[in-house]
Amino acid sequence: MSIFKNKVYDFVIIGGGMVGLSLARQILERGISKSICILDKEKELGLHSSGRNSGVLHAGIYYKPNSIKAKVCISGSKRLKEWIKDKKLPINNCGKLIIPQSEDLDCQLDELLKRGKANGAKVELINEKEIYRLCPHAKSATGRAIWSEYTSVVNPRNILNHLEKELIEKGVTILKDQRILDFQIYKKYISTSKFKINYGHLINCSGVEAAQIAHKFDVGKELYIIPFKGIYWQLKKVSLIKISTNLYPVPDLNMPFLGVHFTPDSNLSGNVSIGPTATFSLGRENYNGLKGVEFARSLRNFTTIARLYYSNSGGFRGYIHKQSLQNIPLLMIKEAKKIIPKIKLNDIEPSKKVGIRSQLYDSLNNKFEDDFICKNGYHSTHLMNAISPAFTSSFELADLIIDNSFLSK
Ligand SMILES: Cc1cc2nc3c(=O)[nH]c(=O)nc-3n(C[C@H](O)[C@H](O)[C@H](O)COP(=O)(O)OP(=O)(O)OC[C@H]3O[C@@H](n4cnc5c(N)ncnc54)[C@H](O)[C@@H]3O)c2cc1C
Repeated sequence: MSIFKNKVYDFVIIGGGMVGLSLARQILERGISKSICILDKEKELGLHSSGRNSGVLHAGIYYKPNSIKAKVCISGSKRLKEWIKDKKLPINNCGKLIIPQSEDLDCQLDELLKRGKANGAKVELINEKEIYRLCPHAKSATGRAIWSEYTSVVNPRNILNHLEKELIEKGVTILKDQRILDFQIYKKYISTSKFKINYGHLINCSGVEAAQIAHKFDVGKELYIIPFKGIYWQLKKVSLIKISTNLYPVPDLNMPFLGVHFTPDSNLSGNVSIGPTATFSLGRENYNGLKGVEFARSLRNFTTIARLYYSNSGGFRGYIHKQSLQNIPLLMIKEAKKIIPKIKLNDIEPSKKVGIRSQLYDSLNNKFEDDFICKNGYHSTHLMNAISPAFTSSFELADLIIDNSFLSK
């Protein structure tokens, strides 16, 4: 007897991360269809970006006005917070300080303030006295900082688990441990080792694999993912440094990364994570050691990085130097001391958390993509570059994807 089962759904979503789950939720909520299947290659959800991030619900400050990120971050955060409240899940509404590490970065505060206000974020410039009140250990190189009251911290795994449960209760099928072996694009079905699944519309939210799957649909062939690894440390329990708000350095606005930051946890336990760094990853899932190393892809990605490094476009060389140094604890502490002068090497310890960003590279224009990218193919929609703040924005982003893709056809 064959165990190969035939299934038919209106929507098949590849990827059960925060974005895939949110899309299923919005398709249901909006009454578009109840026939939805989420397919994930892993035995459990949350093993990639959505379960390995900082858990910060961003408040819409960094993003270029009119970008998709700017459009979805603030309302996405509000909607997710309401859902979290409804589910009675932990959330730490601890706000965020953005502090210049050196005098030359001070002018970036004005740019961030301008962007934040244009995006509708609640942001204010504060002085030394107010910085001290919010975080006595922090120090700004110029005495100025940005305060974002509505930045919060959540436990991403916890949110995913509850969202998964809610969707299953509402009738969404979630098939785990299912790698797709065959895509029949024009016949509109995919096959795994157990199932042949026919669909009306396929949505690709597969994170680090999103570009590769999109290429099968002849979509975004010029785009590929260069994975960037982020490792974390944490403050030791015995450390005398106590931090109860998010503490971010001023980021390099030419790069799509926010810099190593201090993040208190969602349940007010006093734990503080420090990270993530942003260094070249030898594979899209190379979290530890040699596991997940991809030689051929890494060679191509390394060549791209080397080209950017030597052309030094957008100050890339300086950025790479600084970032690679931050993986060395002593040098990371040297950097951290610029915003927390009293921190020492023995205040921190390695954390188990490691994340990998699905950073998209545009090989036609030789640049990293900064914004979310959503493209349509034959009866399919492909979300690529679902980097930060896609977790924060996911409910609103899902609605935007629905409005701009299959419904508008
Ligand atoms: C270190 C780090 C820190 C971050 N911090 C924040 C933050 O503080 N706030 C914030 O808003 N965002 C943050 N982000 C970004 C955020 O985590 C992502 O934007 C978000 O999780 C993307 O969700 P996703 O569903 O698109 O991807 P993922 O969570 O990666 O989910 C993709 C899913 O697809 C599955 N999959 C992949 N390929 C296949 C396939 N072929 N077949 C079937 N399934 C497949 C995977 O198993 C995975 O479950 C951070 C990211 C990183 C890496």
